[in-house]
Amino acid sequence: EQEREVLTWVTFGDASRDLTKKIVDDGFVPDIVIAIARGGLIPAGAIAYAMGVKAAGTLNVEFYSDIEETLPDPVVLEPLLDTDAIVGKKLLVVDDVADSGRTLALVIDLLKAHTPDVRSAVIYTKPRTIVQPDYSWRETDKWINFPWSTLPVIT
Ligand code: 5GP
Repeated sequence: EQEREVLTWVTFGDASRDLTKKIVDDGFVPDIVIAIARGGLIPAGAIAYAMGVKAAGTLNVEFYSDIEETLPDPVVLEPLLDTDAIVGKKLLVVDDVADSGRTLALVIDLLKAHTPDVRSAVIYTKPRTIVQPDYSWRETDKWINFPWSTLPVIT
């Protein structure tokens, strides 16, 4: 078993406030916060509340099927984002982590086809990422246990 980076709910609360402060201090106020589902849903909600942005959307992407077990490529899943609604809007794309960065790269490319100002925020960045997020809370090369995906599924 390799060592893990464990993010608790309490630390996540502080992380989302710290990350939002970085974005606000940079003078960036998005029109819409876009969560990359599912990993970015909870971070995006926390950031949207922390910055007082009410407009939120989601883009559903799957890449990891299990711990360190990936599909060949990240794929966009249904339900799809209404791309007409984002034309000309300033977007903040939020995910839990930029690991390979391939999910973020796919989403940024897709959104930039519809609007020019697309920035990204993640809780964690790993050193190997192919895209550097605009805003990141911390860097790690460990596997991260997020509080929302660590406990077993309730059946
Ligand atoms: P990518 O390799 O495309 O940057 O990562 C895609 C997604 O895989 C992330 O948004 C996240 O949901 C999941 N993922 C990647 N690395 C980790 C990790 O260290 N821990 C957890 N729990 N999920 C990860």
